[in-house]
Amino acid sequence: MVKEEIRTAGEISYLTFENLHSSEVLHAFTLRRGGVSVAPYNTLNLGGHVGDEPAAVKKNRQLLAEALGYQGHHVVSGQQTHGIKIEQVVAGNRLSASGGAEIVLPDTDGLICLEPDVVLLAYAADCTILFFFDPQRRCIGLAHAGWRGAVAGMAPAMVEAMARLGCLRQNIRVALSPSIGPCCYQVGDNVAREVASHLARDVLLQGKDGFYLDLPGYHLRLLQEAGIMAKNIISSRYCTSCHQQHFFSYRFDGGRTGRMAGIISLTPSRKAII
Ligand SMILES: [Zn+2]
Repeated sequence: MVKEEIRTAGEISYLTFENLHSSEVLHAFTLRRGGVSVAPYNTLNLGGHVGDEPAAVKKNRQLLAEALGYQGHHVVSGQQTHGIKIEQVVAGNRLSASGGAEIVLPDTDGLICLEPDVVLLAYAADCTILFFFDPQRRCIGLAHAGWRGAVAGMAPAMVEAMARLGCLRQNIRVALSPSIGPCCYQVGDNVAREVASHLARDVLLQGKDGFYLDLPGYHLRLLQEAGIMAKNIISSRYCTSCHQQHFFSYRFDGGRTGRMAGIISLTPSRKAII
């Protein structure tokens, strides 16, 4: 069964996940090709604070919006500080006053939204972006989490936040973006200690030269412990560090690199139109 697929729109390529395919939701995880940035941000760098030319990032974000068809929508992202603060995004004065510019919510790594035509965006280059969609409640979520977010409990925090808005756990579908895999993610003793103290020893692998962390496996385990059904979760098969032709990798590229984006947005419901 094909669980994820690479699609192309113009010069841009992106991944989609089978469990999020719906006429009610737009989603994508971008690949690195098809943009205008030069090395080491070549070429579709969407991250604004990584040292790339602001004009190139702006152009890349325009190219993405055109390719996916969300020009003119409200676009919201979090500042992404490796915490687990989650904000519900509500279309209102703050978004309208932005004049179409992207709103960045301070100290926020998780976003939830119940309203159509609001585009949630998150950025990563090795960390995981977690996509959430409850088709019954028509609720979406997007979260950024690396090892710190995993230890702090971002995945269960998102599930709890969606449950408080009326989502049933058995209806929530989750997709985990490509992130650095256990094949490449060697971690120091401090990280290993934190993960082990969180009773998550089975996602720490002992290699010849130290510990390796299974970051997507860690999120997967936490999601299932939080009541998300295994059949409703897709975890990407791609490791960002192993697949340089497709993805930016903070670890592989030595810290200077671009960022991919995860995007999710509810489309207007047919009922509302009728
Ligand atoms: Zn790898």
